[in-house]
Amino acid sequence: MPDLRVSGIVEESVVDGPGVRFVVFTQGCEHHCPGCHNPHTHALDGGTMMPTDAILTRFDEDPLLSGITFSGGEPFLQPGALAELAEAVHARGKDVMVYSGFTFEQLLEREERDPAVGRLLAQADILVDGPYVESRRDLELEFRGSDNQRLLNREAMRRLREARDAAPVAKADAGA
Ligand code: SF4
Repeated sequence: MPDLRVSGIVEESVVDGPGVRFVVFTQGCEHHCPGCHNPHTHALDGGTMMPTDAILTRFDEDPLLSGITFSGGEPFLQPGALAELAEAVHARGKDVMVYSGFTFEQLLEREERDPAVGRLLAQADILVDGPYVESRRDLELEFRGSDNQRLLNREAMRRLREARDAAPVAKADAGA
C-alpha cells in the first residue's frame, strides 16, 4: 500500500463522525480558510510520511471502532492512498467519513482530471464538504464548523451527481 503524508492520528474520537472513530489528519492544504483551527496541517511538505498498512494495523487493534475519518489538511490532495485505505476499512465492515475543503461539485470536476478523486469519493459513506467560513461558524452544528458545510450521505451525493449530470441537458432543452 502507498505512503500517506499525515499530520496526526487520533485513535478514538467521538466528535469526528458517528460512533467511535479512528481519525487520520492528512498533511497539506491549500484552502487557507481564515480562522482555520489546524494551520499546522497546511504545509504540503510537512507532517510525516506513513505507510498506509501501518495505519491499518493500528486501526485493527481497536474492535470498538465504527469506522475511519479522514480530516485535514485536505484529504483530496492524496486521494489514491486514502482510497486504498478506505477500501481496506470497508472490507472490514467499517464505514468511512471524509472531510474536504472542496465542495462536492468541485470534487466532481476534479474527478474528471484525476480518477483517484472519484475512487475516494466512491468510498465516502459521509462527506463533509466545503471550506470553513469563519463568519458562518456555528458551534451547534453536528460534525461541522460553519453552516455552509454540508453533511452528505451516499443518497445526497447520488442526487447531487444526478443534478450535475442533468444540468447540460436542461440547458440544451431550454435553448431548443
Ligand atoms: S480546508 Fe480545513 S484544514 Fe484546510 S484551511 Fe480550511 S479549515 Fe483549514
